[in-house]
Amino acid sequence: MMKYVVAGVLAAWLLGSNLAAAEVNVYSYRQPFLINPLFDAFTKETGIQVNTVYAQQGLVERLKSEGANSPADLIFTVDIGRLTDAVKAEVTQAVNNATLNANIPSPYRAANGHWYGLTTRARIIVASKERVQPGEISTYEELADPKWKGRICTRSGKHPYMVALTASMIAHHGEAKAKEWLSGLKANLARKPQGNDRAQAKAIKEGQCDIALMNHYYMAQMMRDQEQSAWAEAIYLIFPNQNGRGTHLNVSGMALTKGAPNKADAIKLMEFLSGDLAQRMYAEDNTEYPVKTGVPWPDLLASWGRFKADTLALDQVAQYRAEAVKLTDEVGYDAP
Ligand code: FE
Repeated sequence: MMKYVVAGVLAAWLLGSNLAAAEVNVYSYRQPFLINPLFDAFTKETGIQVNTVYAQQGLVERLKSEGANSPADLIFTVDIGRLTDAVKAEVTQAVNNATLNANIPSPYRAANGHWYGLTTRARIIVASKERVQPGEISTYEELADPKWKGRICTRSGKHPYMVALTASMIAHHGEAKAKEWLSGLKANLARKPQGNDRAQAKAIKEGQCDIALMNHYYMAQMMRDQEQSAWAEAIYLIFPNQNGRGTHLNVSGMALTKGAPNKADAIKLMEFLSGDLAQRMYAEDNTEYPVKTGVPWPDLLASWGRFKADTLALDQVAQYRAEAVKLTDEVGYDAP
């Protein structure tokens, strides 16, 4: 009797899986306008449907509470911090895939395959056109030079973009030197850390400070915005450390979930996203840099020129995130 029941269940399962359209389910912290065009292109090529759930927060927690019942196959997010947090929460699984490993350079993917970068973003210095001469500052280290006292603005030192930069300073210089740097930078701040990256450009425009840190794509966003284009007009971009290790990059990326019910198709989507067409589209969408080498850059980025990027693996940098947050507290970075 049992034999027939098992056979019946198996037959029903086979029938069900044949009838159901192939699909991949994505939980995304990235906005739909950025990723949906990519998924449409993938569906057009493969016939595999992509369903997305977008949220600004809580997706990792949701994955955790859904556990083995989660419909999610992939998680999309920005910043090495959020990617490694997902790995630490044990909601991801390793992918070891020749296409992904060939398309995505090793600094921008986890050594253990738990996350892959798709686009990169440069954390650059921006300076007042009126009050800072070209060449006056060219490295992150110089942000701590007392000559800039009262002339620098940044967002909170606890924001993931700042934490990643501080972590990279620890990775390159060790904790003691990085702490000295961070307290030097703190001593140079014109005001209590506040606002987002673009708010720093606004502060330069308004004369509150002369130098700030910003992710490069915000320059593109400001240029396109009626009000903010004046902020962009007031500043110029400096890609730091060109004579040394190169400019600090971060990533937007993806991870395969631990229980991915549509694993094979999800990996097909991952491969597609690392390929030339998707890389070009994704970079254009948010004026980011394609992670794959040889893919044409968005015109605006190409006009800013090639630059040397720090190639220290981002998962090495991420190891120092907790340390970076600790230093940020120790130097009272966010204090008035
Ligand atoms: Fe951002």
